[in-house]
Amino acid sequence: METKTLLLKDEAETVRLGSHLALICSRQTTFYLHGDLGAGKTTLCRGFIQALGHQGNVKSPTYTLVEPYQLDQWQVYHFDLYRLADPEELEFMGIRDYFTPDAICLVEWPEKGAGLLPSADIEIDIRYDGESRIVVLSANGEYGRTLLSQLEL
Ligand code: ADP
Ligand code: MG
Repeated sequence: METKTLLLKDEAETVRLGSHLALICSRQTTFYLHGDLGAGKTTLCRGFIQALGHQGNVKSPTYTLVEPYQLDQWQVYHFDLYRLADPEELEFMGIRDYFTPDAICLVEWPEKGAGLLPSADIEIDIRYDGESRIVVLSANGEYGRTLLSQLEL
């Protein structure tokens, strides 16, 4: 598996990584975001979603589990599975219907839905280092590796 490790010095750099990732997607793409509460997963998603044209706030959909964003080029689904009590809830919400060819899925706390989620093209692991964050991006498959190689930072 190919990986890339980055040091993000502040929140703005995390936002910028999100927007870089958004702009290189060329087909249905699934991202998993790992990291403790407050690591910066939603911050990265905000950069991602706003780079695709969304003008308002981006908050973690902690209670609704998923927030849809209909944007010019893409349908983006932002998941936060932190409060998922039982992975079977994902079946009830019709999880598979979200992973359509025009959709980009950003999934916070994917480990809560283990076994029921499509696999990720890129997994993003964010760790604290004071105000900085250490981010490890891992690519799965050909397309994921292409994305990583296009990431110029
Ligand atoms: P998560 O979704 O992982 O729980 P959030 O993105 O909601 O985390 O929150 C991250 C918090 O950490 C925000 O309050 C943000 O201002 C702060 N922060 C400080 N430094 C950074 C950084 N380098 N990257 C991202 N967030 C940072
Ligand atoms: Mg969050």
